[in-house]
Formats: sequence, C-alpha cells, structure tokens
Amino acid sequence: MEMNKIKAGILGATGMVGQRFVELLQEHPWFEITELAASEKSANKSYEEVMEGRWKVSSDIPEKARKMLVKECKPNLDCRIVFSALDSSVAGHIEEEFAKNGYIVSSNSKNHRMDEDVPLLIPEVNPEHLSIIKQQQKRTGKGFIVTNPNCSAIGLVIALKPLQDAFGLKKVFVTTMQALSGAGYPGVASLDILDNVVPYIGEEEEKMQTEPLKLLGKAEDNKFKFADIKITAQCNRVHVKDGHLETVNVELGRKAEPEDVKKAFQNFNPLKGLSLPSAPNPPIIVREELNRPQPKYDRDAGNGMAVSVGRIRKCSILDYKFLVLSHNTIRGAAGAAILNAELMKAKGLI
Ligand code: NAP
Repeated sequence: MEMNKIKAGILGATGMVGQRFVELLQEHPWFEITELAASEKSANKSYEEVMEGRWKVSSDIPEKARKMLVKECKPNLDCRIVFSALDSSVAGHIEEEFAKNGYIVSSNSKNHRMDEDVPLLIPEVNPEHLSIIKQQQKRTGKGFIVTNPNCSAIGLVIALKPLQDAFGLKKVFVTTMQALSGAGYPGVASLDILDNVVPYIGEEEEKMQTEPLKLLGKAEDNKFKFADIKITAQCNRVHVKDGHLETVNVELGRKAEPEDVKKAFQNFNPLKGLSLPSAPNPPIIVREELNRPQPKYDRDAGNGMAVSVGRIRKCSILDYKFLVLSHNTIRGAAGAAILNAELMKAKGLI
C-alpha cells in the first residue's frame, strides 16, 4: 500500500460497474483498492477465480486485484470509503449499514438517490448539494452516503446545466438509445436484442423525469428544492455495447442564437482549477460533424468521462434540439462515483 492514499473498498466488485471500478482505481493517485466485496456466492475466492469468464472490460484484470480475496459486503472492511456497484435489490440496506458504521459510501445504485438528506451529485452541476451531508450525519453518525445519477440522466443533465445557467430551461423532451452494458451481466438475452430495439427499460423513464429535477435544483436550509422544469422521456435498449445516445429537445427560458447555445456548451468548465484526477477537461465536447456523436467513436472521449454533444439546431416545436452521448459504465457509473469522491476529498469531506 502506497503512503497517503485513501483506502477504498468496492461493493459489488464482480459486476459490470464493479469491474470498471477495479479498472479505474488501479492506478488512482488518491485512492488505493484494499477490499473487494460481492455476494456470499463470490466470497472467499480470489478475484481472478470469481471473474473467470466475467471480466468484460478491454484491459486485463489488474495484477494486484487478481489475488485479492473477495469478501462479503459486511461493514468490517479495511477501508475509509466504499464505492458501491451493488445490485439494487440489496444496495439499500447494505449501504445504510456501511454509513452507520462510519464509512463514506459513494454509490451508483438507485436506492438512496432521492432520499431527502442524500446528495445526488454531479461535481460539474451541483457541488453545493454536498452541504446536506451534515443533515444526513445526524442520522448516520460519522459515515454518510453520496450517490451519482442514473447512467442516462447524467449525460442529459451535464448538457442541460449550461443551458439552464445561460438561458433558463422550461421543457425537455428526451429519447434515449441505451447500450447493453447498462443492463448488467448477462443482461438482455442475445435473441431479444440482435436485430432489434427494445422500447422499454424498467423504471428508466421515471428516473429520467425525476433525477434531473433534484440535480438541477437547489440545496437550501438543509433541504433540496427541485427545479421547475417539465421533462418527458422515452427510453430504448439498442444493440450497442457501451455508450448511451440521447436525442434532446429543449424549450429555453429566453431566446438564444444558435452560436450562443454552442458557446454555452463549449465554455462550461466549472471544475477547471480544482485538479480532480478524473475530471474531463472540458466536460462537454461539441462535435461539428453532421453524423456525430456516435457510440462507437465518441464514448471514450475524455477517458470516457466527457459528454459529447452534436447536431445543435433549431427545433420547430420547442427551441433547440441536439444529441448527447456519454459512456454509461464510466461517466454514467464508476467514473461518476470516483469523481464524486475526488470532489469530496478536495472539499475536505474525506
Ligand atoms: P451487475 O453486473 O448485475 O452486478 C451486481 C453486483 O451486485 C455483483 O457484484 C453482485 O455480486 C452483487 N450482488 C448481487 N447480490 C448481492 C448480495 N445479496 N450481496 C452482495 N452483493 C450482491 O450490475 P451492474 O450493471 O454492475 O450494476 C450495479 C449497480 O449500478 C446497479 O444498482 C445498477 O442499477 C447501477 N448502475 C449500473 C449502470 C450500468 O451502466 N451498468 C449504470 C449506472 C448505475 P455477485 O457477482 O457475487 O453476484
């Protein structure tokens, strides 16, 4: 263990998001993986053994992680922070247990996202929401939970924030084309998705219609005040490995020229100067080509942490329409939780 690094555990280390955590944290300058945990059926075996045939990210299993013993998700792990990639059927109570036992929990799961004393955080969008942690600690003690949004909501909200700041936002209509890795492993059966689009993802539209309102709202007097924006979403599963593509139509609060809309995206860089290791610089990349962004070519922009926006043009019903693309298991999951933890460290919360 290198000196001065913060000890980190991964809950759900064997899943699609869990293995991204292992990949992204292996060389992290601030955090050091000291624990890997999953369900009872994976526990007490080496990570290498459990992951045989299950490791799906392109690089190999990091050498150090291979020999580590997978443990159960019990709050006796040797670490200060746990990154949670737990299945939502168990994440709720396990994350609570860890927080109550003094751990900092940076979670991907949906369970606590909308809790009234839990920040739903995107560092570029609502860092001030971390102020609610003091309120949460009245309940949990020293530990606490911070969550990142749903994998489609995060790309959408990063793109909406500069528009909200510059022009105000009234209405949002979004349609998603979501990658297969978003459904975990083994996920959607091949015969259901080959040569096909599945026009339903359980609970996804609800998350897309509520989470942005918390994220784009305010934290005042120890409470969240949701943004007054109308959002409607349609969510589809498509035959793409990684990268969620979304078509977005917006009604702004005031009139704007196309060049101003483009500049609002390009000038958005609120984390500049904080030197967070995973922060993309810039967070939004505007593509000029008529046929971009595309999942295959643009999902890895900014090491998978940047959001690509393209085809910005006027809309004949609302004001503007454009495309948004983000990497669902990096910016939409593991990378998001790591960036949240980096912001917490920079703010002295870890
Ligand atoms: P996944 O591949 O199905 O992995 C689920 C993980 O939870 C595995 O490590 C599994 O361990 C563990 N687990 C299951 N039951 C458990 C139990 N009883 N006790 C302890 N651990 C248990 O799912 P995923 O796609 O990585 O998603 C993980 C979480 O992140 C979910 O809540 C999901 O909604 C959220 N999320 C996913 C994405 C994405 O793009 N995939 C994006 C954003 C958020 P075993 O291997 O031992 O069963």
